[in-house]
Amino acid sequence: MKLSNPQADIFVPGGAAAPEQALARVTHLCLGAHQDDIEIMAHAGISDCLETPGKAFGGVVVTNGAGSPRTGPYAHLTDEQMQGVRRDEQRKAAVLGRYAIQLQLAHPSSVVKTPGHAGVAADLATIFGGCRPEVVYLHNPADKHDTHVAVLLRCLEALRALPADRRPRRVLGCEVWRDLDWMVDTDKVALDAGRFPDLALELLKVFDSQVTGGKRYDLATMGRRSAHATYHTSHATDKVTGITWAMDLTPLLSDSSLSLEAFTLGYLKRLQDDVQGRIRRFA
Ligand SMILES: [Zn+2]
Repeated sequence: MKLSNPQADIFVPGGAAAPEQALARVTHLCLGAHQDDIEIMAHAGISDCLETPGKAFGGVVVTNGAGSPRTGPYAHLTDEQMQGVRRDEQRKAAVLGRYAIQLQLAHPSSVVKTPGHAGVAADLATIFGGCRPEVVYLHNPADKHDTHVAVLLRCLEALRALPADRRPRRVLGCEVWRDLDWMVDTDKVALDAGRFPDLALELLKVFDSQVTGGKRYDLATMGRRSAHATYHTSHATDKVTGITWAMDLTPLLSDSSLSLEAFTLGYLKRLQDDVQGRIRRFA
């Protein structure tokens, strides 16, 4: 497998298969901007693959994780050393979650923000061309992290460049920075993130360089899943113990003329109508 950046990391946990073979097995594919995004977004997909024989999870981290804050035992590390730490943490997550393959493309964040960047496009074409996933987990377009939205856009460009019969059947935009509880209920896709709770916590804690220093992404992510499970309907009892909300991005593939901006603003309009309608009903 050829990836464009010399720093890119191709990792097959267990090393039993060639990367091309491991990628070809992937049925649930998640592409995130940074190390740890996959484990925050796609625990439901990781769980599906652990539960179902024949299913295989693949993880892709698009950036090199440079410029992350560092404290405590990591305070003295250079940016390059820190990138190595984060790469190793992501590999550990891939082992814990029994991923079929973990790819880290190692692109600088600035490069990912460039529309049509040749290296990013080539890597994503290699990945999407090398597997036939049933479901692809991406960032959602209402995320408030610039790099997350840029990675989503690059992924959509690559997916739209595939022949129609090679496109995944389902593409979901998942929550990391800014959750998706604000969507109206009929727009929400509920991903069951309450399975394998011990593993879920381990998969978040493995990113020690991010959690150390007080950013408790592990506790926050578990808490968010739990809160979503309780607050999703006011009358029903909790059927699942953890939910990750997702936006169904599949219409963007079936209709290539649909802009991501117009598609996303539709969700905001439906939220506005919902809020306005309730106030007006009781005013
Ligand atoms: Zn991120």
